[in-house]
Amino acid sequence: MNTHNVSADTHELPHPPEQEKPRKALFANRPKAYPKWIVGRFRRMKWAVMALLLGLYYFAPWLRWDRGPNAPDQAILVDMPGRRLYFFFLEIWPQEVYYLTGVLILAAVGLFLATSLLGRVWCGFTCPQTVWTDLFMMVERFVEGDRAQRIRLDNGPLTFKKITKKVTKHLIWLAIAVATGGAWIFYFNDAPTLMGEIFRLQVSPTILFFVGLFTATTYLLAGIVREQVCVYMCPWPRFQAAMLDEHSTTVTYQAWRGEQRGPKRKTESWEGRGDCIDCNQCVQVCPTGIDIRDGQQIDCIGCGLCIDACNEVMVKIGRPGELITFDTQTNQEARAAGQPTGGLHIFRPRTLIYLAVLAIVGGIMLFSLMSRSDTDLSVQRDRVPLFVQLGNGRIQNSYTLKILNKEREARTYILSMPGLPQAELSIVGHEDEAGESTSLPIKSDAVSSYRLHVRVPREALQGASTPVTLLLRDETHEASYSIDTVFLGPK
Ligand code: SF4
Ligand code: SF4
Repeated sequence: MNTHNVSADTHELPHPPEQEKPRKALFANRPKAYPKWIVGRFRRMKWAVMALLLGLYYFAPWLRWDRGPNAPDQAILVDMPGRRLYFFFLEIWPQEVYYLTGVLILAAVGLFLATSLLGRVWCGFTCPQTVWTDLFMMVERFVEGDRAQRIRLDNGPLTFKKITKKVTKHLIWLAIAVATGGAWIFYFNDAPTLMGEIFRLQVSPTILFFVGLFTATTYLLAGIVREQVCVYMCPWPRFQAAMLDEHSTTVTYQAWRGEQRGPKRKTESWEGRGDCIDCNQCVQVCPTGIDIRDGQQIDCIGCGLCIDACNEVMVKIGRPGELITFDTQTNQEARAAGQPTGGLHIFRPRTLIYLAVLAIVGGIMLFSLMSRSDTDLSVQRDRVPLFVQLGNGRIQNSYTLKILNKEREARTYILSMPGLPQAELSIVGHEDEAGESTSLPIKSDAVSSYRLHVRVPREALQGASTPVTLLLRDETHEASYSIDTVFLGPK
């Protein structure tokens, strides 16, 4: 028996009796989501986006683009051996990888803009995880039936029918996963050639490895892990909150209209209660299995299916639709207070900043693409020694010159140093051709590297460092290219 006496001397308070606290498990299995079939405008939008994206993904490697002889005719191709990226009329060399950086910046800032305007619209409609999970769920529904049938099947005994359904579903999933992994490989190889090799069973172990890898990840992420990728693995929901504000449009339960919720008989009046009849349809269709009536949650991918479900219920019970809707926090506060809403605020400081970044980066990329040269020139001056004083009184500097000919024909360039009087240029190995200029043949679609010696009388120099320009002329195409460097001599 516990006794707790108060001491008269110390006025110590007795310690409260220790109470047994209910222990919470450190780990709990996530309840499996069984999303229910729904029709409605958001479901139709998701089907349309899914068909478009899957169509693009599977068929894009088969599109052809004529680039002339000796060039691949695949419209989109990552040519790893040739170290080249082909995208329709664009051909990106390794030296131009900054274009990819630009594309990534545009994609990221575009995503920030879309999120600040429309919430998690990327997650709900276009993210590959969502698209493939939707496809896998469609197969599951087709084979095992809708939500109630799937729950019954999972909880029921292991019968022949259950095994048949499960095996069929997993085989179809595997077929889709193989097609997905296979399609990815076509982006890195000529698709018709590779398809022929696959039929002749002549594929390399590397290709088999990558097909296997993408097959396994597709099967696992879209078939087994599903919404848990969005909830636990994906970093995007964690920092997207930084892009949202009170003017962002998100999927919202209009609590001011829906509460007090509760079941309702047909004969009962709507007076003194909300429009939500607590039918749970919005929860049952949710692909992540959450209740949007609990407010904004990290698990909500903004797919809008709960809107479709609730609208269907509202039609049945004769109440206005959009109890769950896409709306902003400011508009909701105004509606709850019975005040007019301010509409959508598209142009806000954050969206204007995102638009400005998009415009600047897009503009720079466009300008850079338009002013792209068919020849790239780079030069590096020898640092050791800085210069050599020759016996005939001339000063010699040496350079390494790299010339990239992007044309699909061999070209001959004439190299000179026009700003430096009496300069004598010679290519290492061709010293007998030394002169005011020298010719450099470059193969088609190739980079060539040359060692260049330049010799100048000391009196022709302006001082210890003379700025000079290397000029490259292609007389056949009447084009010239230049690069600035310096010529060093004694003080
Ligand atoms: S579907 Fe609509 S009415 Fe039914 S529980 Fe959800 S919010 Fe309430
Ligand atoms: S709560 Fe609604 S919008 Fe959010 S994931 Fe579930 S169904 Fe989609």
